[in-house]
Amino acid sequence: PLILAIESSCDETAAAIVDGKGNLLSDVVASQIDFHSRFGGVVPEIASRKHIEAICGVCDECLDVAAQRLGMERLTWSDLDGVGVTYAPGLVGALVVGVAFAKGAAWAADKPLVGVNHLEGHMYANKIGAPDFAPPAVVSLVSGGNTMLVHMRGWGDYRVLGATIDDAVGEAFDKVAKALGLGYPGGPVVSAQGAKGNPKAIEFPRAMMHSGDMRFSLSGLKTAVVTYINNERAAGRELNVPDICASFEAAVVDVQVKKAEMALRETGAPTFCLGGGVAANPVLRAAYEKLCKKMQVRLVMPPLSACGDNAGMIALVALDRFRQGKFYGLETDAQAHADLEQEY
Ligand code: ATP
Ligand code: MG
Ligand code: FE
Repeated sequence: PLILAIESSCDETAAAIVDGKGNLLSDVVASQIDFHSRFGGVVPEIASRKHIEAICGVCDECLDVAAQRLGMERLTWSDLDGVGVTYAPGLVGALVVGVAFAKGAAWAADKPLVGVNHLEGHMYANKIGAPDFAPPAVVSLVSGGNTMLVHMRGWGDYRVLGATIDDAVGEAFDKVAKALGLGYPGGPVVSAQGAKGNPKAIEFPRAMMHSGDMRFSLSGLKTAVVTYINNERAAGRELNVPDICASFEAAVVDVQVKKAEMALRETGAPTFCLGGGVAANPVLRAAYEKLCKKMQVRLVMPPLSACGDNAGMIALVALDRFRQGKFYGLETDAQAHADLEQEY
């Protein structure tokens, strides 16, 4: 089968086409970052409007690229076998654009519709670099809106082991970048600065490190970094931005690794994997390589290009659901939140 999937949960408008073997024939992402960066974060109303402007062009390009790959002159909606779309979680006004478009296209072309949970998409992104990746596994989801450890007992069978009680990891990167005047999104700039700094220079708090569970808390770390910056400025000292970034990253990574180890021990899972924008972080990736080697667990990570939001990962989920005949009706709606454990 050929499935086209759409992703519009935040600030990227994306579409991808997957074939029955799980090959991505096209994977188009239009980022809106330029329109949001001047505001230091994603502005929901702008995101919705930009999705509306971009979605037709992104889908046309997606069909064109796949046609080329297949050696066909043209590929149309009627050549597809199904339409997938992210329906939750995310910004409702952004999601609704993709959902309405997908429903309209599926109805007009008389194709089945599949709704996809965005976080499940981030898990499936591991298949992009490693087609043989399969549960049971522990996945660390670290993104702009979520931070959690999930036990993947099977495809579609998930148990949340622990999650953040306040901010997400990506959000903390974005806030630290904002405090340092490094712009949005913060992850890539903070990690580029951190690579030049000393991770032991400043002792930032490792919140919940010894809480004995798999929950996280990031807001205290963010406040500690902001307070440090303010104190240094007030004392007239010049900020050592690389040291601040490296020390912040070390505090984040220490806690992430400690809880990941706990999750692996508790579940006995033979595989560990990552998902979400922060999974592109080189310090985090290196730390997990060390941990998984020590624990003799297989480590799977999405390719850097598939860590952030994309529709390829959504198409891979949609293909599985399509095969299982788990279709969604036209009453399918965008939702800000969705419970991963109750998805099926
Ligand atoms: P969610 O997936 O929870 O709905 P989202 O889709 O907005 O949230 P993603 O697009 O998956 O989040 O990830 C974006 C986040 O990843 C941003 O907060 C960004 O700063 C962060 N990020 C990107 N690259 C890096 C990096 N190299 N290091 C750390 N963080 C990064
Ligand atoms: Mg994004
Ligand atoms: Fe995401």
